[in-house]
Formats: sequence, C-alpha cells, structure tokens
Amino acid sequence: MNKFIRKILGTALISTALAFGGVVTAQAAVIVLDPGHGNGTITAPGAAVDPFYEAPMTLAVANQVKSELEAAGVTVYLTRTSDATDVSLSDRAAIAKAYGADALVSIHFNVSGPHDKSGCVVFASAMGGNNSLVGINLGNSILQQTSALGYVNKGVRGRIGTHGDYYGVIRSGTALNVPTIILEQCYIDYPTDRALLASTGLSAAAHADAVGIYNYLKNAGKI
Ligand SMILES: [Zn+2]
Repeated sequence: MNKFIRKILGTALISTALAFGGVVTAQAAVIVLDPGHGNGTITAPGAAVDPFYEAPMTLAVANQVKSELEAAGVTVYLTRTSDATDVSLSDRAAIAKAYGADALVSIHFNVSGPHDKSGCVVFASAMGGNNSLVGINLGNSILQQTSALGYVNKGVRGRIGTHGDYYGVIRSGTALNVPTIILEQCYIDYPTDRALLASTGLSAAAHADAVGIYNYLKNAGKI
C-alpha cells in the first residue's frame, strides 16, 4: 500500500469513526468509482475526439454518480478527484480494497480503430467466482439503464490475457478479491453516440449509471 492510499484510507477511517461516535463500524454498501485515466503521466491518456475528452468526462460522471448514490444512502469513494493527477491501475484497485468496496466501477469512454462501433459495453472478470458474478449482475443492471437512454446494449464481456484478466484494473481488482468492472459508456467517435451525448448530456449517462448501481445493490440485498 503506497503513501497515497494510506493517506486516503486514514481519512476514511477518521470520518467513519466520527460518524459512529468513535467506533469504526462496517458499512452496508461501499462503491468505489474509478474515473478512468487522468493527466496521462501514469496511465494511458484518455480518448479524445473533439469536443469529447475522456479523462474529464469520466471524472464528471463519477462525481455525479457519487452524489446521487450518496443521496440514496450508499457510501462512495473515488480513486481520483482531479484531472491534474493520475493513479496507476493497480493503485486504483488497492484504493477500492482499502475502502472495503463491494465493487469497483471503472468509468471510461470508448473509441474504435475503424470508428464503426457504438453502444455501451461492460467488462467483468473472466476468472469466475464471485468477482465475475458480481460484475455480470452489476454490469447488466447498469446496461439496462444506459440502453433505456438510447445507447446500444453490447452486454457484459470478459477478456482474458496472458496473465488472467486482460484489463489491468480488472486483473488487479480480481487479485485483491474486489469485484471490478470497466464501464465503457459509449463511443465518442461514433455519430449516434456523439449525438446522444450532445442531446441528453453527460448528466443523463451518469444518472443511468447511478440508477443501475443502486438497483444492483438493492437486488443484491446490500442496501
Ligand atoms: Zn478509457
């Protein structure tokens, strides 16, 4: 655990202790939201197809999802709170572990090489067990909401690489036994998705995510 994680974990424990009169009590549901990318110094720079820029968009979505879930009684933390910094993929998972997350939701926006793909896709662990099960159920709950908004439902997928799960944040989450999903909201290089983003706004996508996460927690009996 690095210094940054110790620092935010310390803050979490202090606020928890204050909230419960000095006794650190386990909380019912904890979601850690991971706004994908950052300033590009540690992770890959986010996708950029003017006027859409992935890193600030994932942060904006995460901030709104956090507010909405907190209003519904869910405890939420972010892995980063600024576009001026960056956090490694393994540290993002370690932060979620440190907070005791029920799930880590890594928020992204997609592009494709041939610019011919559209819709919302979720990646979950392909290694099986609870990490995959939570990922599939959580992912489908979110996809139900994003598809109602108009984004094509591309389903929950797993992708295996040479060391287990292909995507680093999922692989790291699985190693720490934190169910982790990557939520690719839509393709910022595809006309229909760009038009939906422009017409409904980021806020609608964030609201869909929040409702999907909330419904999952409720159906799973965690709230
Ligand atoms: Zn991304």
